[in-house]
Amino acid sequence: MNIIEADYIYIQGEYINRKAIAFDKTIKAIDTKENLLALYPDATIHTTPPNSVIYPGFINTHVHIEFSSNKTTLTYGSFIKWLSSVMTNASKTSSCDNSAMENACNEMLKSGITGFGAISSYGVDLNVCINTPQRVVYFNEIVGSNEGMIDINYESFEYRTKLSQKYASDNFIPAVSIHSAYSTHKTLINKAISYAKENKLLLTAHLLESPGEREWLTNASGDFYEFYKNFIGVEKPANTLDEFLKAFDDTPTHFIHCVQATKKELDMLKVKGHSIAHCPRSNRMLGCGRLSIEDVKAPFSVATDGLSSNWSLNIFDELRAALMMHYHIPLHELSVQLINSVTSIPAKIFGLNCGIIAPQKLSDFCIITLPDTPVSLEEIALWTILHTKEATKVYIGGKQYV
Ligand SMILES: [Zn+2]
Repeated sequence: MNIIEADYIYIQGEYINRKAIAFDKTIKAIDTKENLLALYPDATIHTTPPNSVIYPGFINTHVHIEFSSNKTTLTYGSFIKWLSSVMTNASKTSSCDNSAMENACNEMLKSGITGFGAISSYGVDLNVCINTPQRVVYFNEIVGSNEGMIDINYESFEYRTKLSQKYASDNFIPAVSIHSAYSTHKTLINKAISYAKENKLLLTAHLLESPGEREWLTNASGDFYEFYKNFIGVEKPANTLDEFLKAFDDTPTHFIHCVQATKKELDMLKVKGHSIAHCPRSNRMLGCGRLSIEDVKAPFSVATDGLSSNWSLNIFDELRAALMMHYHIPLHELSVQLINSVTSIPAKIFGLNCGIIAPQKLSDFCIITLPDTPVSLEEIALWTILHTKEATKVYIGGKQYV
C-alpha cells in the first residue's frame, strides 16, 4: 500500500486541504495521513513539495503521434494550404521513427498526461502505443473516397484493427476512427461503424474543422473544390453533411474540432449522445476559426491534436491557449471548465475508470507544484494553468513514472 499527501487534492471541483490518498493500483481511501496510517501502518509514504496539488491524471483525447517529426515542413494559416503541404511532403511527414513517437509520448507524460487517444493512420505507432506507460485508446483510422479502392482501404483498416485487438488490455484499448466526411466513402463509413458496433469499440471522426470543409460538403464549392479536382480528380464531395451525420445517429462518437458546426448542429450532437474534442492551437494554426465552447452542450475535451498542427504536446500549453482564445468567458469559470475538460470529462467520454480522485478509481495522478502559497482556493485552477510547465510527479495505475 502507498500513501501520498499534498497540500491540496482536486476532488469533485474543489481543492481539499491537507489530506492524503491511500492507493495501490486503485484508490483505497482519502483521509488525513494519520487516519490512513492507522489503517495501513506498513504503507510506503510518498511526499510532495509544499504548495503541490494532486490532480487526476490528464487525458488528451486527440493526438496523431505518427506525425511527430515535422517542425519546419508544413504550411500553416489555411487548412487547404496545410493539407496540400502534407500531401506534397507525404514521404517526409509519414516517415516518423519510433524515437520521435516515443519522444511525443514522453512529452505528454511529463506534462501529466496519463491517457491519450491516438489516431493511427498507418499502424506504425502500434508498438510505441502498446509499450508507452500511458493508457491509450488506439483509433485505427479508415480513409479513402475513391470508389475503386473501397476493398483495399477496408482490408487495410480491418487488418490493422484486428492486429491491435490482439493487444487489448486495461492500458491499450483498440478503437475505430473514420477520418472525415470529405475523405471517406460512405460504404467505408458504414462498414467501419458496423465493425465498431459489433466489436463494442469507441468511435471518433474529424468533423467540420475548416470553413472550406463546410462549403465543400454543403455546396460542392470553395477551396476544397480546387484541391479535390487537382489532387484527387473528383468534383463532388464523398458525402453530404446530413448523410454523414445521420450515419452516426445511434452510435455515440467523439467528434474532433466541430469549429464550423452551427448552433443547431452542436445541439444535435448533444441530443445524439456525441462528444467533442476541442483543439484550440491546431484550429488556430490551420486557420479554422474558434469553436464557440459557450454554445457547446455536448461534453467536450481539450486536446492537443498532433505535432503536424501544433508545436508541443504539453497539455498546459494547450490549456493556456484555450484560456486566451475564449477571452469573453469569465476567467475563473473557464479555468475550472478547462481542468475538467482534461480530467473527468474525457474519462467519461472514453469510459475509463479514472479522471476523478475517489475510492475504487484507478490511481492515475498528476501532481503539480504552485510557485507560492495560494491565498485563495478558488483561484488554484487558474494558477495551475498559468504557472505549470511540467508535472512534479506522475502516477499511472499506482506506479510512478515522473
Ligand atoms: Zn486530427
